[in-house]
Amino acid sequence: MQRATLPLLSLALGASLLSVFRASTTRAAAPLPVRYDATAAGRISRRFDTADAVATPRVDEHAAVLRRIRTAQQGTYIADILLERDSALARWPDRHGKPLTVWIQPESPVPDFLATYTAEVRDAFQEWDALHLPVHFTFVDDSSNAEVHVTWIDRFTEPISGRTRWSRDDAWAITEANITLAVHHSSGDQLDDDAMRAMALHEIGHLLGLDHTTDSLSIMAPRVRVRELSEADRATARLLYALPAGSVR
Ligand SMILES: [Zn+2]
Repeated sequence: MQRATLPLLSLALGASLLSVFRASTTRAAAPLPVRYDATAAGRISRRFDTADAVATPRVDEHAAVLRRIRTAQQGTYIADILLERDSALARWPDRHGKPLTVWIQPESPVPDFLATYTAEVRDAFQEWDALHLPVHFTFVDDSSNAEVHVTWIDRFTEPISGRTRWSRDDAWAITEANITLAVHHSSGDQLDDDAMRAMALHEIGHLLGLDHTTDSLSIMAPRVRVRELSEADRATARLLYALPAGSVR
């Protein structure tokens, strides 16, 4: 059976506030184009399919995954993600050494856009890359060849400064992701280089399949206060990529 591509949604980070909404997904037999959420005031929306739409591993596999989470979760916020995702883990499938191609919009007519932003975003990808996860990145100059696009806007109308939109298939494998970063907070203040890099680190975390944590010292806090990945960010990403995608309910 062909996998249906489920439009999912994205997360965003707010420089000041952040909310996650549930959005609609459509279950269908045939692949669907990714549907971007243009409504809901730009907040992330997503609604997960019910469990019966999720590939269900055999009971012993389930038990093994749960055991693995139990023994390895210390120092991670994998439990926060499971809570946020209705006990499912989404991640990119192993790519067998083939990097994800990333295009970062090299310039923008947006007022106050700094040429240095692109280097900050590139640096953020490289920081995640240093974890040597089964998914890593390479930069391309041609947007039409890229699997991941990073683009700029002036500001979001809602109180966020970045957004990642991603899709998954019915086995919870991430199939597509794109990031939008704002040059200004919705309040009007411009992001400096450090803030832009931190926003990019946060959004790339979403791109990898991480969700928000209550740990305010991690980059995946809904309100980003730190400027670097925490040990918990790294440990959680490593654990996520040591586990299969799918429901662990
Ligand atoms: Zn976020």
